[in-house]
Amino acid sequence: MKSHVMPTYSRLPISFDRGQGVWLWDQNNNRYLDALSGIAVCNLGHAHPLVRDAISEQAGRLIHTSNIYGISNQEQLATRLADLSGMSSIFFSNSGAEANEAAIKLARLYGHQTGIEKPEIVVMENSFHGRTLATLSATGNPKVQQGFEPLVEGFVRIPFNNIDALQNHSSNQSIVAVLVEPVQGEGGVHIPDSNYLQQLRRICDQNDWLLMLDEIQTGIGRTGKMFAYQHTDIIPDVCTLAKALANGVPIGACMTAGKATDILTAGMHGSTFGGNPLACAAALAVLKTIEETGQIQKAAEMGDYLLTGLQNVLSHHPDIVEIRGLGMMIGIQLSSDCTELVNQALKLNTLINVTAGNTIRLLPPLILETSQADQLVDTLTQLITNRKPLSAP
Ligand code: PLP
Repeated sequence: MKSHVMPTYSRLPISFDRGQGVWLWDQNNNRYLDALSGIAVCNLGHAHPLVRDAISEQAGRLIHTSNIYGISNQEQLATRLADLSGMSSIFFSNSGAEANEAAIKLARLYGHQTGIEKPEIVVMENSFHGRTLATLSATGNPKVQQGFEPLVEGFVRIPFNNIDALQNHSSNQSIVAVLVEPVQGEGGVHIPDSNYLQQLRRICDQNDWLLMLDEIQTGIGRTGKMFAYQHTDIIPDVCTLAKALANGVPIGACMTAGKATDILTAGMHGSTFGGNPLACAAALAVLKTIEETGQIQKAAEMGDYLLTGLQNVLSHHPDIVEIRGLGMMIGIQLSSDCTELVNQALKLNTLINVTAGNTIRLLPPLILETSQADQLVDTLTQLITNRKPLSAP
């Protein structure tokens, strides 16, 4: 039967009917280990009872009003996020791209307020910031941009994890901000040097640039801290969130601090749905659950366990270039394209992702247990050792 869904995704031949914890069941009742969490969204696993109860309670009371009225859940969520992050003032959207759009608009306004006519934002090679026109222009992947020219102007691109490249732009009077992922996700799970964010902070301070962190994939415990910048002692000026914030209910956030705080004012930005009572109830339940269960510390430990397990078994395999990770964000880089492994993993009832062509990306729910991590290591070992690279004769 012809699908009437626009084919913007080349979908895998499977569809899921229900989930519980780290497990998903397809329509024939086959069970799968989810090592992707809907791409870093369902960090608390599927059908989490506290999130489910918060959503159904709120849905039975009030789903939506409008941002022209006060929204008590939104106020509570902003306060909670501010407490957890050290940030001051938060705009709520419905997705990651929209959170980044808010950040980009804010950076331009900041520039105009300081007399810069054509503000520019420094962005990174291999980055991913979304699919809207401004965010795809900020993204460092020509495939994402192709066909959508003319791109939004005002972005200066430099290599990731390269402080000298940024220093070289210090004399550029048009620059107003640096937008960067603390760990590049879509780009291939690239973890920068441990002092990278501090160095960025220092250079931004020296030049009066905003440091804007895209924590859409890394945020909400994914890397073993609530926010990845909390592995350091810095606070960014802007930090964007989405994905795991409400465990699957659409929400995004653009958090601001310091000189970025009071830039967007009434009438400058908005969203019909952004931060509505339902989405905020789900996000509040997520943050409460994470805190009460000590989930982030557990995720940091389980991430180490999984990474070490993979490294012990696979590091010396000839096809492996590197196995790297931070918390529950793990990349296994192979020496050649390995996109075929996604389908092969499916046959072994496991959901994984391959990004940048040659890197297996693992983003399991933070609630992963030891036995499930062991199962994942076994499956990946089987997949990689039985693999016949496409490039092989
Ligand atoms: N930024 C990063 C780092 C992401 O990983 C993503 C999505 O993968 C986005 C932005 C875009 O988020 P969304 O798909 O919710 O618009």
